[in-house]
Amino acid sequence: MKKGQIPIFFEADKHLNAAGRMLYTEAVQRDKIDLLPHDVYEHVNSCAECSAEILMLVELMEEEPIDANEQHPFFNNPNSDYFVSGNLADIDALLEQIKADAVQIPLYENLIKEQLTASYRSSSTGIQILSPQNEHLYQDEVTFTFAEPTSSPSTLIVRNHQGQVYKAKIPANTLHHTIDFQSAEKFPTGVYYWQMIDRSRNRMVGKFYVFTS
Ligand SMILES: [Zn+2]
Repeated sequence: MKKGQIPIFFEADKHLNAAGRMLYTEAVQRDKIDLLPHDVYEHVNSCAECSAEILMLVELMEEEPIDANEQHPFFNNPNSDYFVSGNLADIDALLEQIKADAVQIPLYENLIKEQLTASYRSSSTGIQILSPQNEHLYQDEVTFTFAEPTSSPSTLIVRNHQGQVYKAKIPANTLHHTIDFQSAEKFPTGVYYWQMIDRSRNRMVGKFYVFTS
């Protein structure tokens, strides 16, 4: 699985979701098990619970024989955008849920709004940051990308409503800085605010969402 991508065939608890179970069932019916995504195939091999669910589905579906010539969006066309569109729909739904549950920090919300105003932008000599993009969802890691190498050392702080979760010195001449969400205790699912301050006290703030399963 690619980093940052939300798997669409698995629940947060790592078992197959309804789409994953259905995909496996359809693969059995069509004799296409070898075309299944590797992680789906592997999981069912080692999971009695999902195997049992799929067996039940296969039995249920046997009452409705399939037309072998019928085009299947995945098995007849493995390179189609079937995954992509499914992923986007899932990510949107996930992001909506995380936003609904997020505990905002009003001070930061105000700073972000202020930053978006034209007068602020024209007066600011601030740090130009290309990513993370505000309001975007990140999984596994987030990478800060600067429009040009940083001109002076800066401090990057990330916090949620419970306090600071990350702090790092960004040396001058940095173009990328990646934060790994390895420790899910530190980065539970939710909203995060970051601020970066350089030596001249130029400040940039922003927010992103994190999903950790
Ligand atoms: Zn399972």
